[in-house]
Amino acid sequence: MVVEIVCVGTEILMGNIVNTNAAYLAEKCAGLGLSCYYQSVVGDNHDRLCEIIKTAASRSDIVILSGGLGPTQDDLTKETAAEVFDKKLYMHEEAKEAICAYMTKRGLTITENNWKQAMVPEDCIVVMNANGTAPGIIMEKDGKHIILLPGPPGELIPMFENDILPYLKKMAPDVLHSVMVKICGVGESIVEDQIKDMIDAQTNPTIATYAKTGEVHLRVTAKAENEKEAEKLVKPVVKEIKKRFGDTVYTTDENTSLEAAIINMLSKHKLTVSAAESCTGGLLSARLINVPGASDVYQAGFVTYANKAKHKLIGVKKETLYKYGAVSKETAKEMVKGALKASGADIAVAVTGIAGPGGGTKEKPVGLVYIACGRKHKITVKKFQFSGNRAKIRESSVANALIMLREVIMQNRID
Ligand code: ATP
Repeated sequence: MVVEIVCVGTEILMGNIVNTNAAYLAEKCAGLGLSCYYQSVVGDNHDRLCEIIKTAASRSDIVILSGGLGPTQDDLTKETAAEVFDKKLYMHEEAKEAICAYMTKRGLTITENNWKQAMVPEDCIVVMNANGTAPGIIMEKDGKHIILLPGPPGELIPMFENDILPYLKKMAPDVLHSVMVKICGVGESIVEDQIKDMIDAQTNPTIATYAKTGEVHLRVTAKAENEKEAEKLVKPVVKEIKKRFGDTVYTTDENTSLEAAIINMLSKHKLTVSAAESCTGGLLSARLINVPGASDVYQAGFVTYANKAKHKLIGVKKETLYKYGAVSKETAKEMVKGALKASGADIAVAVTGIAGPGGGTKEKPVGLVYIACGRKHKITVKKFQFSGNRAKIRESSVANALIMLREVIMQNRID
């Protein structure tokens, strides 16, 4: 079954609001196994709305429209959809009462145009709106399903969850089950190359690749009659991926981030960590501390941006800074040593680099970053040359610092 999403509203078209409804609806439909080939946005204009509804209904089985169900004259979605499907509007008494109750409860004055929202197309399913005044509408004609939903997400989402999902589920009886395999420290092209045979042979389950900074996520999705069957199909594929990528797979749980996996590992192995940051200015610590439970394992963070701070707070030698510079493997290493000493943590990670746009030289260009990580007697330093703007370079630095930290924990775990 093919579904199409049409969001109505001039303010979306003008970029005044972000079209979160489209993202929400698309994700939900994908989860139901419905194929979505087109999404569009149209302003509050009768002729263009007419055109897009006709086009969408000609190429898709289900058309979901959001917005334009309000009480004012420029809210045209319902009237136009009814016109396209040759349905007359009539006053729906239950909807009228619901509007009345909603407005009275909130002490709002009911005006004549409020009743416009209680007018519904003949032979439609009326979906009551517990969070607003515009009811949702489902129209069916010649095997096509047109679903009209109110624009405000606070109304659309509960209506979709409570009434539209069960309606769509009947049309898409297959169950989808997916597992997200998250890999860190391996580039996207290498990942794809290593599973090229699996991707080429995929039918059910399918494997979708998502590249993130420092990470690649593989979504393995199977379709089956029931959850158990779908899980059975996914399992061997996930097992094979894990076999091929070994320790670089940090989780198969969709909701676990790299930093959460790291905090879990530290906690499990009773290890503590500290960070010394220059160009990332606390971003690395922020990602770690964002994880609930970080307080058990995270000791201290040192944002040592200036040379003086590197010396004063974490004891980087003046000679090192003078001889090799702040962006050097020697400084990165001493930052780790200093952070370990000042915090008493088991492991420290340090980042020093040139995030740009200024400050680069021929020898030390923008994007050059040294990351060091380790324990007192074993500190590893890696040199990176990142590209992109300041934000991207800092983001890449944090991602790679986390990957190095994970590697060090794996070397130091007490199993
Ligand atoms: P109302 O009954 O409140 O008038 P409506 O169905 O007519 O609802 P719109 O007038 O189109 O909806 O939009 C109302 C508000 O809902 C917008 O100002 C915006 O805040 C939000 N909204 C509308 N469409 C979207 C969308 N596609 N994504 C996110 N928010 C949206």
